Amino acid sequence: MRYVDLGNTGIKVSEVGFGGIPIQRVSFDEAERIVRAAIHHGITLIDTANVYGDSEEKIGRAIAGARDRLVLCTKSTAKDPPTMQRHLEQSLRLLRTDYIDVYQLHNIRNREAYDGLLAPDGVFDFMKTAQAKGQIRFIATSIHSLDMAKFAFQVGTFDVVQMPLNFISHEFCDEALPLAKTNNIAVLGMKPFGGGVIEDAGLALRYLQQFPWAIPIPGCQYVEEVEQIARIYEQKAPLTPADLEAINRIRAELGRTFCRACGYCEPCSAGIKIQLVMKFDAIKVRFPHEKVLDLLEESMAKVEQCENCGECVARCPYDLPVPETIKTYRQKYLRYKAEQADKA
Ligand code: SF4
Ligand code: SF4
Repeated sequence: MRYVDLGNTGIKVSEVGFGGIPIQRVSFDEAERIVRAAIHHGITLIDTANVYGDSEEKIGRAIAGARDRLVLCTKSTAKDPPTMQRHLEQSLRLLRTDYIDVYQLHNIRNREAYDGLLAPDGVFDFMKTAQAKGQIRFIATSIHSLDMAKFAFQVGTFDVVQMPLNFISHEFCDEALPLAKTNNIAVLGMKPFGGGVIEDAGLALRYLQQFPWAIPIPGCQYVEEVEQIARIYEQKAPLTPADLEAINRIRAELGRTFCRACGYCEPCSAGIKIQLVMKFDAIKVRFPHEKVLDLLEESMAKVEQCENCGECVARCPYDLPVPETIKTYRQKYLRYKAEQADKA
């Protein structure tokens, strides 16, 4: 494993990190084996969030004795300081630490949200105070929208920005990453496997190895996945012409259905949470069954109310056929529910 600068923070981290969403689906003991395998293979950056079920608690237990070697990243959805204080205290307790290395605002959706978070005496000021107290080392955000990512790198408010990085939504690599590099702002790459649609982990990660200043954070649910990722980084094979052909083929296949979760299609006039419905494949494989139902039941039921007004299609920069796609996801969701009921 090689270690690279985390932007201009002055610290080095492993060139690939560990994403803490999938360990929600396994037991505490298994989560410990997975996280310890990541540490064993030299991974030093671990990312989670206070909304990832028991992920923080599992990580806190698994890293006993190794905390000082690690860069812990977590997130808060708070929109006001008292809520963030609660979230921060809880994250510190669950992660069994007295400081968070990278504390992220969870998904700033647009400029209006950014302005609200940075308003005087708002959550950004709270983070600054927590930083001065030593509870937070670096102030960060996660972002799903390309425009907001570009904006974040231009204004330089954050030490670290987490955004999607994969060869399908490659506009982040093409347009946002160069700005991050120019301004020397650290990047964490979520969804390196396109939220689960890229099956070839080697291809996905070799593509991202072209951008060594950005740290992909693949989520792992099995020790074998950690070992596979470690091997890919040990071998460091460059992309071949055959790889590029495969990337182009997969992009072409998925181009008409792959949702970048940018949110431009919303709000839907019928109140459908389009982005959430479009994430069904990723949610299904990453979360426990009860959480899948909890997250999606209401939104999937609402899909029936789609009036085919076409507003979302007009707003989607990737020309996705949104109404047909959400109806397909609803059918998939109903089949998934029936299968789970049969298993129970
Ligand atoms: S076409 Fe359907 S999903 Fe799209 S905005 Fe209209 S009602 Fe909402
Ligand atoms: S459907 Fe299109 S506009 Fe809506 S979140 Fe997905 S990619 Fe973005």
